[in-house]
Amino acid sequence: MALIVQKYGGSSVADAESIKRVAKRIVDTRRAGHDVVVAVSAMGDTTDELLDLAHQVAPISAPRELDMLLSSGERISMALLAMAIHSMGFEARSFTGSQAGMITDATHGAARIVDVTPVRLREALDEGAIVIVAGFQGFNRDTRDVTTLGRGGSDTTAVALAAALDADVCEIYSDVDGIYTADPRVVPKARKLDVVTSEEMLELAANGAKVLYIRAVEYARRHGVMINARSTFSSSQGTFVLGAGMSIPAAVAATLEESAMEEPIVAGVATDLGQAKVTVVGVPDVPGKAAEIFTVVAKSGANVDMIVQNVSAAATGRTDISFTVPKADAALALRALAAEQAGIGFESLVHDDQIGKLSVVGAGMRTHSGVSATLFEALSTTGVNIEMISTSEIRISVVVRGDELAEAARVVHTAFGLDGDIDAVVHAGTGR
Ligand code: ADP
Ligand code: ASP
Ligand code: MG
Repeated sequence: MALIVQKYGGSSVADAESIKRVAKRIVDTRRAGHDVVVAVSAMGDTTDELLDLAHQVAPISAPRELDMLLSSGERISMALLAMAIHSMGFEARSFTGSQAGMITDATHGAARIVDVTPVRLREALDEGAIVIVAGFQGFNRDTRDVTTLGRGGSDTTAVALAAALDADVCEIYSDVDGIYTADPRVVPKARKLDVVTSEEMLELAANGAKVLYIRAVEYARRHGVMINARSTFSSSQGTFVLGAGMSIPAAVAATLEESAMEEPIVAGVATDLGQAKVTVVGVPDVPGKAAEIFTVVAKSGANVDMIVQNVSAAATGRTDISFTVPKADAALALRALAAEQAGIGFESLVHDDQIGKLSVVGAGMRTHSGVSATLFEALSTTGVNIEMISTSEIRISVVVRGDELAEAARVVHTAFGLDGDIDAVVHAGTGR
């Protein structure tokens, strides 16, 4: 008998039928003799719809009220799921984040879990109940307010519960069979991975692979939780995300082919349409200007990702500096820089939100050369222009035109020999 934490994403509980399907899956796990704790997301695109509603009421909402609103989505699905389980003759009890002891800092919209005190969950488990917890939400002790963990945050709820309850595995269910070598909605030839290291998964998640939320992967890595990403709609074993010292369960390992155990140089390709590029034009090319610019940007709260400084024109002694930030942060950065234009002495600002970022990730890059050459060659043969480049130890990212991103991803995926024989299946969801 094991303790299994399962997380069901929005597309898995989109309507009454889906909720019943999930209830059956949970009950099957219980029938197999395991204790089950479930973290559940809001139904379908509920969170996006609530956000749309908020924008219609007020262009900028108070963060506290936004969290009150958004956290309601998960309360609906947790109660419905518990009811569906009851009707199958099993005992289930739902809990809000606060009731589940999900204690966070006070940052509305992106709260971090600081402690998990699952006293009530343990009581319910001891009494033989299946536990259902509302994902994505927590509670701050100082402000006594409800918080949310950031978009995709139900993954973190599940991992944090798995860590606090010392679960055997944290299963994250969504509308794809596991982690693929690329987003199967973008690259149909993407192949499912049986295993991926948590180090590679962190880079993939950080660069647009929303199949797992980056903070959940970080949390799992720090607390030694094994994640198994799999689908609600199939019986595929999914993908195991392995941290240091972890190995896949022996029963699963026995079913894998030898070749699947080899370490490829490139694990996957990630795509991200969520960034914008800001260019500071005509910056005086003297020491200290980059520091001034990025101090202003940092104070605005915008989170800078890539940076490129052009060669300065000898005639003017000026240069251009471009950087990328999440689309939602661009206005903050632009406003802050515009306010300091005279002090910094640049000529103008350009805002470009039609960019796409493509990243190639693989631990094999540490020991193999030529990955960037293959990437650039693949892009050049399709006529895709590279606007920015950045690298980490196990990742190379490029910025290209947004409307060329999907085609670029497919070509690069092929160039690294990642294509599978059959098209990947996306079972549900709108991809929103
Ligand atoms: P959920 O609502 O269950 O949390 P998400 O929509 O957050 O599900 O994540 C699943 C989606 O992630 C898939 O439908 C797929 O389009 C996208 N995705 C992006 N990159 C990958 C990848 N490398 N492997 C699998 N899915 C990916
Ligand atoms: N419902 C939240 C969202 O859509 C949290 C989640 O699904 O993980 O972001
Ligand atoms: Mg998700």
